[in-house]
Order: sequence, then structure tokens, then C-alpha cells
Amino acid sequence: MERTFIAIKPDGVQRGLAGEIIRRFETKGFTLVGLKFLQPSRELAEQHYAVHKERPFFAGLVDFITSGPVVAMVWEGDGVIASARKLIGATNPLNAEPGTIRGDLGANIGRNIIHGSDAPETAEYEIGLWFKPEELVNWTPTIMPWVH
Ligand code: ADP
Ligand code: MG
Repeated sequence: MERTFIAIKPDGVQRGLAGEIIRRFETKGFTLVGLKFLQPSRELAEQHYAVHKERPFFAGLVDFITSGPVVAMVWEGDGVIASARKLIGATNPLNAEPGTIRGDLGANIGRNIIHGSDAPETAEYEIGLWFKPEELVNWTPTIMPWVH
């Protein structure tokens, strides 16, 4: 079963949007298999955003992501990586469709509320970076036959 890494960024936490965001993944039918609340270290943030290290916004992005607590999660389900990206919406909330998390709740590219892995390789990398294997829970909700 596919897994993806999702993080509610410091702006989402500060604005009290964590419950709303988790609800959207739950009601879609995905399964939560990992959850922690932490203020990321600079080292973790730099590793997480390593692909962007040459970009002009990198330093500001690392400052922002380490500026407060984050809800780090792993969600599981068929096609969850691509589907989560659809639920999240475009990177710039001003371009994100209404109905998406960023489209409904965000208004600035530098404060876009949520992160989601963009491919199977990045999902594997990010899950391994944020979670130890024993922090992930292998379980199947009993409602699953009614979802799939
Ligand atoms: P996504 O989060 O949709 O995968 P990217 O991987 O392209 O987007 O960028 C990572 C994060 O960097 C974005 O979510 C956003 O917070 C930030 N970012 C991207 N582009 C810019 C920009 N032009 N200015 C400021 N921040 C940006
Ligand atoms: Mg990305």
C-alpha cells in the first residue's frame, strides 16, 4: 500500500487549521499511519528541502519551516501520493483551485499551509527523514471494505 509524507507547516498550525486539514484526509478515505508534533531543527528542514537549496527562496523557506511547530504525518492508501497533491492544490494558493486545501485556506506562496510528497521516491525519502520505522503503525481500519 502506498504511503506519503504530509506536514502542516507552522502557518497552518498557528492558524488552527490542523484539525480541518486532518479531517480532509480522513474523510477522503486515507489511513493515518504516523503522526508527530515537533518544531523542526535547521538540519531536518535543510535535508527536507535539499532539492531547493540553490533556489533564492531556500533560506527564507528554512527559516519559516523551523519557526514553529509542525504536524508531521504519514498517510496510506491506493494512489495517496498523487491524490494528496490534488487535495493540497497548486503550490501558489492564489492559483490553487477552490476545494483544495491551499485554494480554500491559503493566500500566499510563502505561507501555503501544507507540504505533500510529490513522487514515490520523495515520499520514501521524506518518510525516512521524519519518522523511524517503529513510529509508523501498521493497521487497517475496519471501515476499509466500505471505502474500497
Ligand atoms: P510544493 O510544496 O507544492 O511541492 P515546491 O516543492 O516547488 O512546492 O516548493 C517547496 C515550498 O517552497 C513551497 O511549498 C513554498 O512554501 C516554497 N516556495 C516555492 N516557491 C516559492 C517562491 N517563489 N517564493 C517563496 N516560497 C516559495
Ligand atoms: Mg515540493
